[in-house]
Amino acid sequence: MKQYNSLSEIRADIANGQVTCRQLVEHYLHNIKEQEKLNAFLETFDEEAYAQADTVDQKLADGSAGKLAGMVIGIKDVLAYKGHSLQASSKILDGFKSLYTATAVERLLAEDAIIIGRQNCDEFAMGGSNENSAFGPALNADDHTRVPGGSSGGSAVAVQADLCLASIGSDTGGSVRQPASFCGIVGLKPTYSRISRFGLIAYASSFDQIGIIAKSVEDAALLLEVMAGNDELDSTVSRREVPVYSQQLAIEEGKKYRIGYIRDCFESEGLDAEVKESILSVKDMLREAGHTVEAVEFPYLDYIVPTYYILTTAEASSNLGRYDGVKYGFRSPNVTDLNSLYKKTRSEGFGEEVKRRIMLGTFVLSADYYDAYYTKAQKVRRLIKEKTDELLQSYDFLILPTAPTTAFKFGENATNPVAVYLEDIFTVQASLAGVPAISIPVGRDSKGLSIGLQLMTRSFEESALLSFSNYILDKITVEA
Ligand code: GLN
Repeated sequence: MKQYNSLSEIRADIANGQVTCRQLVEHYLHNIKEQEKLNAFLETFDEEAYAQADTVDQKLADGSAGKLAGMVIGIKDVLAYKGHSLQASSKILDGFKSLYTATAVERLLAEDAIIIGRQNCDEFAMGGSNENSAFGPALNADDHTRVPGGSSGGSAVAVQADLCLASIGSDTGGSVRQPASFCGIVGLKPTYSRISRFGLIAYASSFDQIGIIAKSVEDAALLLEVMAGNDELDSTVSRREVPVYSQQLAIEEGKKYRIGYIRDCFESEGLDAEVKESILSVKDMLREAGHTVEAVEFPYLDYIVPTYYILTTAEASSNLGRYDGVKYGFRSPNVTDLNSLYKKTRSEGFGEEVKRRIMLGTFVLSADYYDAYYTKAQKVRRLIKEKTDELLQSYDFLILPTAPTTAFKFGENATNPVAVYLEDIFTVQASLAGVPAISIPVGRDSKGLSIGLQLMTRSFEESALLSFSNYILDKITVEA
């Protein structure tokens, strides 16, 4: 079967009688099996996917099908799906099954999407290489010796290798954008609160946002419009009306935008020369096309990674307190009393990185250090947010690389957690500020590894973000 790059291509073929949903499910399940060593899926839902496919084929035939009919989707192992295992790729949730379905997943199903399986990720979404999964890493399909990025690594590889059409992940500090960049596809982190977090396993609640990984901007727009919007089950979700993003993908003829790029980002140590060159060439292309492109100052670049890690570990240490061996999943078999039950379950159930973060978070929240770290970091977050919002008053978009490098080799950064944290330097600004950001594939380096460009914009202006992304991708294809 041919490789489809968007739902509209699939729908055209369905309409022509060239393909059915059942055949699509067959195709993707076959690919998943054939590419098993990529380790992108932890589990597939074969029978249900076929049953849903038959239902949707029937609905397509009688004209009652929803917006997502024909779309086969994988979900990251942090999204609840009733009756299915849910583990955040952690041993501590061994054997746990969801009692309900995440609102976002519920909405996909209501529009006739087919959920094909549960995808590998870094444990509790902590990481940027998928090396922290209790199930072993997912592999980058372009080069199996390299990481797919993370934490939504399995979700990105699945789309990259045509194991499903789109994936739903989560992005706390770049977990959708960075793996999308490493795998050459589109990754969208919407504005904080745009999509309900009900049924999303919490990592750092004031940052967590469900995100989309797709082959096309068009599909990302469609999935966003289906999942976004008010939800009684999440008190933090935005009540703003949801635009029909998929109908707003064309930019006005002749419209000129103001684009800012943070000068220091391009001068930052650790930015790979080929990544830099590639992003700068997009910047030049935009200038030549008549848009205003200007260097801007952002004085907090050195503070964003420490601020992010203080706040997210603090929130994580609290959120992960619930995994105590009593309520969910795994319980250590070697316990003698209640205290040892807690201790042994947590020591044996969590992986090294998760434990490191729980300890860091507990430390920054401890009475003696609370003000020095946690309170201070909250203040710095405010400064970062205010400055980012201020820049976005003068500029429609900020452009920067998604990641400082292309996909790195397994083990390359494994012994140095700080080096891994610094990989997040370009993605965490949008997360600290809560603004939407997207990664789009703009080229490849001399090793053939893909390079992602990141765009940020004002809160709730996903429509502009998506249409401008589409415009850039079209321009790159035309010029190539
Ligand atoms: N790499 C970042 C971290 O480890 C981002 C993770 C995420 O967005 N879930 O925290």
